[in-house]
Amino acid sequence: MAKPKLKTKKANRPAIVWFRRDLRLSDHSPLLAAIKTGHPVIPIYINDTISPEIVRYGAASKWWLHQSLTMLEKSLQQKGSQLILRQGPAVDVLHDLIKQTDATGIYFHHSVLNGEQQIENDLARLCKKLEIDCKRFKGELLFNPADIKTVSGTPYKVFTPFWRACLTSEQPSVPKAAPEHIPAPDAWPESENLNEWQLCPLKPDWASQFKEYWTPGERGALLAAEIFINKAMDDYQTNRDYPHIDGTSRLSPHLQFGEISIKTLWHKSFAADKESPGAATYRKELGWREFSYHLLHHWPNIVDEPFQEKFRAFNWQGSKLHLKAWQQGQTGYPLIDAAMRQLWQTGWMHNRLRMIVGSFLVKNLQLHWHEGRDWFFETLLDADLANNTAGWQWVAGTGADAAPYFRIFNPVTQSEKFDKKGGFIRNYLPELANLPDKYIHDPSNAPTDVLEKAGVILGQTYPKAIVDLKQTREQALKAYAELKDKTN
Ligand SMILES: Cc1cc2nc3c(=O)[nH]c(=O)nc-3n(C[C@H](O)[C@H](O)[C@H](O)COP(=O)(O)OP(=O)(O)OC[C@H]3O[C@@H](n4cnc5c(N)ncnc54)[C@H](O)[C@@H]3O)c2cc1C
Repeated sequence: MAKPKLKTKKANRPAIVWFRRDLRLSDHSPLLAAIKTGHPVIPIYINDTISPEIVRYGAASKWWLHQSLTMLEKSLQQKGSQLILRQGPAVDVLHDLIKQTDATGIYFHHSVLNGEQQIENDLARLCKKLEIDCKRFKGELLFNPADIKTVSGTPYKVFTPFWRACLTSEQPSVPKAAPEHIPAPDAWPESENLNEWQLCPLKPDWASQFKEYWTPGERGALLAAEIFINKAMDDYQTNRDYPHIDGTSRLSPHLQFGEISIKTLWHKSFAADKESPGAATYRKELGWREFSYHLLHHWPNIVDEPFQEKFRAFNWQGSKLHLKAWQQGQTGYPLIDAAMRQLWQTGWMHNRLRMIVGSFLVKNLQLHWHEGRDWFFETLLDADLANNTAGWQWVAGTGADAAPYFRIFNPVTQSEKFDKKGGFIRNYLPELANLPDKYIHDPSNAPTDVLEKAGVILGQTYPKAIVDLKQTREQALKAYAELKDKTN
């Protein structure tokens, strides 16, 4: 039902700022532009679970969204403003708000995701009909997909030349400061109650522990960025591979919700006294985020379809029991299990571990990469359509610039290399805490007396390995060879 029209003096018609995956006040061009018009500003966030084109949130991300909106609301109040919350199809909700407030225009960050662009186009058509402004601003990425093309004008499919092209194109502009004050309208339209959106799980409240690890919101994001840049960035290129070291920024959920802009991180990485190899490697990782978004922009069907056509015919045949064991961290391979429990406990997983658990799922358990994609999407706080899609396609060997299918990570040797002393494993698998370093990577192959002494009973206190690595590796390679024969 349409909301009653609010009393607003003609001169005080408001400008609407539509917050999307940009839940911050600094480096927010639409907000600054709306303020610059001299009109009062109405900030709105829409929980659109209806329009099929809008990217959905997984269960863990919904928890973050709740916290992030709470923080944004507080920040807006400190600037003299409010956050209007509404549910429904975005275009209908905005239409309703325009009519109710007699708004002069809508200001928002543009999305490079095709489905969301359709919504923007519908909105632009509506604004044109109503003869009000519809202003879209870039800000989701560092580089514009339309500008990064090969000499023949096609999008890049391989990361290295893509990144080279980015680095030689126009560099990201300097981020803008948050406004001092946001002018309020004569009357505020009503807002829904965030708690009624039921974004946080209640029974059981499996997300309660996330608070121990994360501080959602813009302030938390800026603090995490400062800590990373001052303490970890210089050694990023060496430490980033070791899951027991705080060697990476852990900014991914903040970035996913736009609590800090990508441009801010980019420019902050240059701000250190001297350029370190860590800073360049860090920017390159931001480049992988760019690459994932550019790929999804140009090939929207890769969310479901393998980038490499030939994999459509691949026979994934893994068992549901194995999938469950993988999800619950009960595979009998400690590094895999510790990683999956890190995901469940903290809502985040280290990048190297994402690659290892992904390879194990797809190659050793022969499960479809969609199964991994979906589990990650539900459980990751940083679940990001572009990065998650590209990550899984990479791991499965089906993607644009993918690990070749025959590259199969061995979780035991990876564990010996990247968690040599088992510190990470012991943290998440206390049942293995007393195993000596030599056996912690593969308890199924430990001598009986060693297991006994460490209080480990395979099959009872910790599972036996659910598959044989050598055998499943050979099966995966055989399946791939058959596919190659079929498609050649
Ligand atoms: C199977 C798989 C699934 C993944 N799913 C997601 C996802 O849903 N959301 C997500 O943000 N990342 C995803 N990644 C990429 C990467 O693992 C995470 O971005 C990274 O672990 C986040 O931790 P961080 O912020 O400490 O990263 P840092 O090492 O500090 O890197 C800085 C930023 O660069 C970007 N980045 C780093 N590595 C990658 C990468 N390989 N691909 C794309 N962007 C990258 C992220 O935005 C990250 O925050 C996935 C990777 C794999 C292999």
